[in-house]
Order: sequence, then structure tokens, then C-alpha cells
Amino acid sequence: MHRGKKYFETSVIHDGYDTKDMLGSLTPPIFQTSTYTFKTAEQGEARFAGEEEGYVYSRLGNPTVSALQKRIAALENGERGLAFGSGMAAISAVLIALTKANDHILCSSGLYGCTFGLLTMMKEKYNITHDFSEMATKEEIKSLIKPETACIYVETPINPTMKLIDLQMVAEVAKAFDIPVVVDNTFSSPYLQRPLELGCDVVVHSATKYIGGHGDVVAGLVVGKKTFLDSVAMTTQKDVGGIISPFDAWLLIRGMKTLPIRMDRHCDNAEKIVEKLKAHPKVANVYYPNDENNPDYPIRKKQMKRGSGVISFEIQGEKEDAQKLLNQLNFLKIAVSLGDAETLIQHPATMTHAVVPEVSRLEMGISDRLIRLSVGLEAWQDIWADLEQALNNL
Ligand SMILES: *Cc1c(COP(=O)(O)O)cnc(C)c1O
Repeated sequence: MHRGKKYFETSVIHDGYDTKDMLGSLTPPIFQTSTYTFKTAEQGEARFAGEEEGYVYSRLGNPTVSALQKRIAALENGERGLAFGSGMAAISAVLIALTKANDHILCSSGLYGCTFGLLTMMKEKYNITHDFSEMATKEEIKSLIKPETACIYVETPINPTMKLIDLQMVAEVAKAFDIPVVVDNTFSSPYLQRPLELGCDVVVHSATKYIGGHGDVVAGLVVGKKTFLDSVAMTTQKDVGGIISPFDAWLLIRGMKTLPIRMDRHCDNAEKIVEKLKAHPKVANVYYPNDENNPDYPIRKKQMKRGSGVISFEIQGEKEDAQKLLNQLNFLKIAVSLGDAETLIQHPATMTHAVVPEVSRLEMGISDRLIRLSVGLEAWQDIWADLEQALNNL
């Protein structure tokens, strides 16, 4: 389902759901049902044979979930969307669908911690190997592609270092080798970046973050070509079973309506906080996609509408100082996750990336003095006041 001529701000409220189909109900009803009744035995037979359209069982389809899936497909400008019970359920469903034993995955050098854990498990159990790449040039990517490379998996901005990868460039190389490119678009949301429009093949989301936006649901989404997503729906979604609940799908539909408005505020606030952090003597480095001094700034301008709401920064000091900074905050919350109304702060080396071995972690640029901030929707002056007093006390 393509967005056609509608603006994003309209699609996010209307696409994928027609009130006429649901007795005029303005918002999609929550179909809290596990199964669906057939009028006759023959109708049951026809539904199972795929000869008649209609719902069968909620692991295979649910009207509330369908509305969400159609909406995210429209927002990412893809043919079909699928919803899952978590971002990791979505990512694992895609990676397992794309690979078989002894295949190879080429990844961006920097991955969400549990995605790294999943790849490690796939290597140990099925000898599906992986390599990391900076993906800075076409030559570098080409040199790492093997005959058994089954997919290229990219995170951009990379969590938590905020490095960017040129998605159009990666897609061009991959096309030549006929290898699908999967992009984790969690940090940008479709409002800021749409990988399918840049030539990539599959988009995955932790909808727990910006798409849900309110810190009240864990969920995942996938968008891509209909043929591929049909196969995921019938295999790693149906048979592995990491589906979303109708209520959680409803929460996402509700949260998404304000996505453009929230994202603009996240970006406005983050820009202010970056400015302040850069001027503070206790701050050594600030990493943010929309910073003109960031070497990846030209890529930001090319593929992201704005810089999003996550900032990482290194303080002057050691691990103990990083922890002290967090402990001295008054109202900013120490928590992993991101994209919520509340500003969240965490220490990647001991939290989100604690599972990554130290050598790999340092290679990824995650030092003990790195802090990640998900800038919320509060007044930026209050966010800064709390950060500033904690920094001043170091
Ligand atoms: C949170 C996150 C995930 C995992 O999503 P869950 O919803 O927690 O399963 C994957 N990728 C990125 C970039 C994330 O931030």
C-alpha cells in the first residue's frame, strides 16, 4: 500500500483503516479474540485452503493488527507491513527467513546489543557467520561480500555512536550482487528516514521506541516487498509465532498519530541540548547526526529529514564519573529504551551493550565514559537544567 499523494502527516492518521468497515467507529476497535467462527464446515475448509479471504486464528491475522500493518506499510512506502510482539521478534523473523545454515550476513559496525546476541547465536547454532563493516565506501562493502552472503544488515544512525551509513550507496552495491538490504530504522522513524525509497529492501523497527512513543508497549514492525513479507508471514511469523497482541497494536495506532509532531519536538529539543553540551567543560565529545562538525553530516542531509532525538556524549572522566552523573539527576530518568515523552539516560557500556565483549565494544566506539541520552518532550530548558547541575557536580 503506497502513500500516494497524501502527506505523511495525513497518512499517519488515516491510512490502513476505513471507518466504514467498522460500523463508523472513528478509531479501530480492539479485536480481542483468539479465533474466528466459520458459518459452515465448508467455509472453514475454504479459509484454510486460502480460497476464501477472511480471518481464521489471531496468530495468522487480526483486524486491529491488520490496520496497523497497513498503516506502517504506507508510512514506509512499502508494499506490505507485518507486526510483531517486539523489535527482536521482528528482526529475528526477518533474519531467519533470509538465511540458511552456513550463510553469511554483512553488518554495520555497530548494532543493537540483542541483535548482536542474535547473530552470535545464529553463528554458534547454524554456522551463519557475520562480518562487520564501516560501510564507508563501495569498495569496502564489495570486498566483504562472499558467495554465501545472504543479506546486508544496517543500522543508521548506529546505536549509540550516531555514526551514519549512506543507505543509497549500500543499496547500489547490494543490487549488483542481488543481495537484500535490511535496515533497522528505529532511531529515525519513517518520518525522518525511509530506507525503501533509497533502494533498500526491508525495514525493521522496534516500535517500542518512537513509533509507540509513550513508553507503554514493546512491539516490532517490518515493511518490504509483498512477496518477501508473504513468506515471512507464512513461516517465521506464523510458525515461530512472535505476534503482537491486538491491544498493543491499538496502542501503536494511537501513538503513531502524533509521530510527526513528536519527532519535530524531539529534534528541536535535541538540537538545543547538543548546543549546550558542546559548550560544557565536563563534556569531551558529543555525537549527534545533525551536528555540522559530525563527519557524517552530509549523509544526514542526504537521507534524514532531521537529526532525531538521541544524543551520545563522552564526559571527561571514567566509568565512575559516568555513573555519578546519572545518579545526580533530579527528574531525568535512568532507563534504557528511547523515543518516549520522558527524557531517558543510560550508560551503554554497562547497560544496553553490556552483552557485547569489551574488545568489540571498544571497536564499536562505546567507551566507559559514553552516555546516551534520549531527549524527551519536556521543555528543553528543564532538561538542560537537570543535566547541567549533574555535570557541574562531577
Ligand atoms: C530497542 C531496539 C531494538 C529491539 O527492540 P525491542 O522492541 O526492545 O525488542 C532493536 N533495534 C534498535 C535500534 C533498538 O533501539
